[in-house]
Amino acid sequence: MSDDAIPMLDVAAQNEPLTERLIEKAAEVIRSGRFILGAEVEAFESEVADYIGVEHAVGVSSGTDALLVALMALGIGPGDEVITTPFSFFATAGCIARVGATPVFVDIEPGTFNIDAHRVAGAITDRTRAIVPVHLFGQACDMEALLAVSKKHDLPIIEDAAQAIGTQSPVGAVGSLGAYGCFSFFPSKNLGGFGDAGLVTTTEGSLAEKVRVLRAHGGKPKYHHAVIGGNFRLDALQAALLRVKLPELRGWTEDRRRNAERYDAAFASAGLPDDLLRTPSRRLEGHIYNQYVIRTSRRDDLQAHLRAQQIATAIYYPVPLHRQECFAYLGYEQGALPESERASAEALALPIFAGLGEGRQERIIEAVVGFLSGLQ
Ligand SMILES: *Cc1c(COP(=O)(O)O)cnc(C)c1O
Repeated sequence: MSDDAIPMLDVAAQNEPLTERLIEKAAEVIRSGRFILGAEVEAFESEVADYIGVEHAVGVSSGTDALLVALMALGIGPGDEVITTPFSFFATAGCIARVGATPVFVDIEPGTFNIDAHRVAGAITDRTRAIVPVHLFGQACDMEALLAVSKKHDLPIIEDAAQAIGTQSPVGAVGSLGAYGCFSFFPSKNLGGFGDAGLVTTTEGSLAEKVRVLRAHGGKPKYHHAVIGGNFRLDALQAALLRVKLPELRGWTEDRRRNAERYDAAFASAGLPDDLLRTPSRRLEGHIYNQYVIRTSRRDDLQAHLRAQQIATAIYYPVPLHRQECFAYLGYEQGALPESERASAEALALPIFAGLGEGRQERIIEAVVGFLSGLQ
């Protein structure tokens, strides 16, 4: 990659100013000889719970395992249906299927890309056991509406907050609203680890305890298993390094928000027709912009043009989950969930990372607006 290439994300540049402290911390853990759970994991759990604004946080091995262990803790399994969105990273639906349950997909709102809360009630059957909304790209779902459905039908919510650490909704912090919240520290998330790591949050002590037990094979006490768990533990090394990064997260989030505002303003003033350029709808201030995703009917052409200008972009997500080959057995035809299918054809994520800088962002804006204006 040449010097003027603009990446989607520059993890190394973000970590660079923290290098000394990270190395020191890693050395401390290495010398301690304690690598499984322990004080670093407990300290991280408590610090990140404070940041999120939730009573309990349990460190786990990945965001995927956070979802898996939350579903296991609620006893969801074969014969059960779980309502979720078809427009998400694969793990959301993959975990539902892995516990033996059936994912039931409900289409999205075209503006926010989040599950259309007003369609959820229509998908509930007598087999429905839970709802798994995803706060996609860092923006909260319509939790007022989802909580109302959850309460009315007595269905627990597992929030997939993998992309939404620190996101706020009008009814409270994401990750504190359902039975469980599931977070990821995959390197491309707003708080990225040095490998895989995740977190389960909850406001209820008894639910936190269930996940703690399942995280270590379900042994309680050790070697005595009333339930079958797995190895879903967070490494002490990951926890220790995440503790070095966590104090920076608020600032990084502010930077992402400023970048989003600059995109919003520049694209609005370009005056392009809706089919050529739509900026992401924001319902609230609490968005943390893990991704900034525009929509355009000329998505593939725009992406090719940007690539030629050495500007990286990404498509989240090119195939909606109900159209994945592995879910063919669920029987969703092409056209079954039209908003998700349209989003898959039109969505394009632009670089938004903290540290992008105004100069590089200006280049992206000029390239996007220049190309799309030329199509009119
Ligand atoms: C990243 C992500 C996950 C999975 O997290 P991992 O830590 O990569 O396992 C789950 N759901 C969503 C929406 C994600 O973006």
